[in-house]
Order: sequence, then structure tokens, then C-alpha cells
Amino acid sequence: MRVTIYGCGYVGLVTGACLAHVGNRVLMVDVDAERVARLRRGELPIYEPGLDDLVAEAAAGGRIAFTTDADEAVAHAEVQFIAVGTPPDEDGSADLRHVLEVARTIAERMDGYRLIVNKSTVPVGTADRVRETVREVLAARGLELDFDVISNPEFLKEGAAVEDFMKPDRIIVGCEREDSAERMRELYAPFNRNHDRLLVMDTRSAELTKYAANAMLATKISFMNELANLAERVGADIERVRVGIGSDPRIGYHFIYPGCGYGGSCFPKDVKALIRTAEEAGHDARILRAVDGVNERQKRRLFEKIRDHFGGRLAGRTLALWGLAFKPNTDDMREAPSRTLMEALWAAGARVRAHDPVAMAEARRLYGGRDDLVLCADPMEALEGADALAVVTEWHLFRSPDFDAVKARLRRPVIFDGRNLYDPARLAALGFTYYGIGRGTGA
Ligand code: NAD
Repeated sequence: MRVTIYGCGYVGLVTGACLAHVGNRVLMVDVDAERVARLRRGELPIYEPGLDDLVAEAAAGGRIAFTTDADEAVAHAEVQFIAVGTPPDEDGSADLRHVLEVARTIAERMDGYRLIVNKSTVPVGTADRVRETVREVLAARGLELDFDVISNPEFLKEGAAVEDFMKPDRIIVGCEREDSAERMRELYAPFNRNHDRLLVMDTRSAELTKYAANAMLATKISFMNELANLAERVGADIERVRVGIGSDPRIGYHFIYPGCGYGGSCFPKDVKALIRTAEEAGHDARILRAVDGVNERQKRRLFEKIRDHFGGRLAGRTLALWGLAFKPNTDDMREAPSRTLMEALWAAGARVRAHDPVAMAEARRLYGGRDDLVLCADPMEALEGADALAVVTEWHLFRSPDFDAVKARLRRPVIFDGRNLYDPARLAALGFTYYGIGRGTGA
């Protein structure tokens, strides 16, 4: 099948590379000319395990190409995917500017049937808005052409996106026309061979399913962070509690890790957008407001622990930071807890020496030129002369460091463990002052 995909970001590129891998002819479109030029040279603008090989293989086979040319994009295929960003607006609602822009781009150029498939995360009712936009543009052109707009939300996880796309837990198709569902069944058949994971439903339910999934996962995290804060006050260890409740299959071990808050391009914005959707529908989404509020507070917990340890005097201190990405195996720093921590430290007059296995270029793009940030090529180098270490991202590389070497490099043996990677008793025995999240009396 021929497919056009608007948006060469995490979702668009993974979708395009995987669809091309199974034999489709994919044209990737972006308004960012520099991004397209880099992709044409074989350089990926993002880090995602396995993606570079897939793109290179598809490009060599002539099954994937990149363009900024809208005419070429609309002419290339009947199936047109929208995978552009839907960042939060000022009031928390999803900004649909880019999605509607693509709808207009298609409507202004189409000369026959098009199936518009929306992969971006969008509020309930967006498929109807896209349909309305296309209809208006076609009417202005004096044309009556057949088209359909369907919802096909994406559930991939950054860091495991290729694997998730190739072996999805489910493929949600929200549509009202059987011929549209049939096309999606055909397109997704190579990823749906083991047993049928494709769920067809109405567009509004499909749109809400995406938000419901992210909101449920965010709820689990905020719930555990709430209990972690309580555990600190009552002298319990949240890690023991975690294992204790996870053993109940109704609860399960997934997504119940306490830490320094969730970040990334999805959970924070999607929870906020769902709160706004509820408000607009006249419903007070109390659980969601609490989930968001608990997370905002949790992202400051590590800073508060550091500030309290140093008696509120952070000016002139240097903190070593391990981890900049919002989670392991990605270079994405959108809404990352590392940013909340660094910005609070800088505001208090402290300096940061940071290392991340893949997000260094992204950190340089965001914060390059600051003299209170040193980006270090190696985790041990980040420790040199620092007053303490803060671990913010649970990269495998940070899980079992040579603690003697850590101690030798730090000015004082103090560790703030934002992901509960280390055993407090072991670190105490090694002579460290250790602060985790929800582990006894704040320590
Ligand atoms: P991204 O910011 O990485 O990429 C978006 C791309 O769209 C950018 O390259 C941008 O230049 C391009 N773009 C903007 N306007 C355009 C236009 N008019 N025509 C063509 N290209 C245009 O975004 P992302 O992380 O891939 O997310 C895309 C959507 O998918 C969002 O709605 C997001 O919520 C959703 N989503 C993201 C993830 C994830 O893990 N990142 C997972 C599931 C769903």
C-alpha cells in the first residue's frame, strides 16, 4: 500500500519505518525543512532503539522517502496519516493547530478519495472537526469528493517504540465506515498475525481510549508517589510496600514504581488535556486533577530533599546529576523531572554537572551556553568535585556503579536517589548519606 505520513517525530518516524519495513511505500512529510534534509542524509533527528537500521533499510530499498512538498504528499497516497504534535495550549487543552493545518493541506490539494487517519493524541470530537475542515475547504473549491476521517491513536512507548509498533497490545481503529476499517485491517495485517488485536469502535470512543490509557498509567504513578510521601512520614519503606501490593495480580507490578514524578511528552499533557475535556463537558474530573497535582509536587521532592540536606544554603554548591531524559532509552527531555530539578537548583544558586547516555545533545540544545551547567561525557566525570549526586533517570548504566569510585570523586558521600535504584542499608554501610523516595524517615 502507499501511505503518506505528516510529522517526522517519534510517532511519525516509527510508524513510517515499520510500515515501510513490511513492504509499503511510505512518504514522510514535515514542515521542518532542516529535519527533512537530515533525514534525507540518513541522520535521525531522534534517538529510538532500532529505528536507525529500519529507516536505513527502507531508504535503501526505496520504500521510504522524505519531503516538505505538500503537493507530492497529497498525491502520493490515498491513505494519509496525521502524526503531528498536539502540544498543550495555555489552558491545558490540546492545541490542534498542526492537526487542522494538515487537514487543510490535504483538502486544498486532493483530487479524489482520501482516507485521513489521525494518529496524534487528540480530544474527543477532533475527527469531526477534521471532517468539517476538509468539507469546508472542498466546498470553497467547489468540489464534492469522497473522503473519510478516522481515529487510530498510537500506544507506542518511547524507548521501545519499534518493538511496540511491531508487536502491539492492541490496534484501535475508530471509524464509522466499514470500507475504512477494512483498509486499516489490510494495512495492519502484518502486525496482527498472532491473534486479532485490532479493535474497531466509533471515533469518539477511540479518541477517549488513548487518554484513558495514559490517565490510568499516570494515576498509578501518582498514587504510589502519594503513598511514598506518606511512607516517609510514618517510617515505612515504600519499596517493601510496592512489592507487597504488586504480588496481588489485580494490582500487578507494572507502573507502581515511586520516584521523582512522571514527565515526557504524553502523560503530563494528556492528563491536563483530559481535565480540560471534562471541564468543557461540565464534569469535574477530581481524580485527574489530583493525579496532576501530586505529580507537580513530586517533581519538586528531590530538590526539597537536597535543599533541606544543605540547610537551605545551595548557593555555590555543585550537584552531580545522573540522567536527563524523562525515562531510560530515549533522548526526550520534554517535561523531564531533571529539568524541574536543574532549574530549581540554578534558581537557588547551585551549579550542575550532568551526564546522560543519549540526551546530551538535547540538553545542549535546551540549555547550551549556561555557565552553571557542565555536560560531562561520562558519569564518573560528572561527580568530580560535586557536593552530592542526584540520580534522576533509571538508566541501566546507573544501577550498579562502583560506589568506591563514586565516593572518591564526590566532595561528600551524599546520594539523592530519585528512582530508588540503590539499597539504603548497603549505601549506609559504605559510608554514604542516602536519600531515596518514600524510604523511612525521608532518608
Ligand atoms: P514530535 O514533536 O516528535 O513530532 C511532531 C512532528 O510534526 C515535528 O517534526 C513537526 O515539525 C511536525 N509537524 C508539525 N506541523 C506539521 C505539518 N503541518 N505538516 C507536517 N509536519 C508537521 O511529536 P510526537 O512525539 O511524534 O507526537 C505526535 C503525536 O503523537 C502527539 O499528538 C502525541 O501526543 C502523540 N503520541 C506521542 C507518543 C510519544 O511517545 N511521543 C506516543 C503516542 C502518541
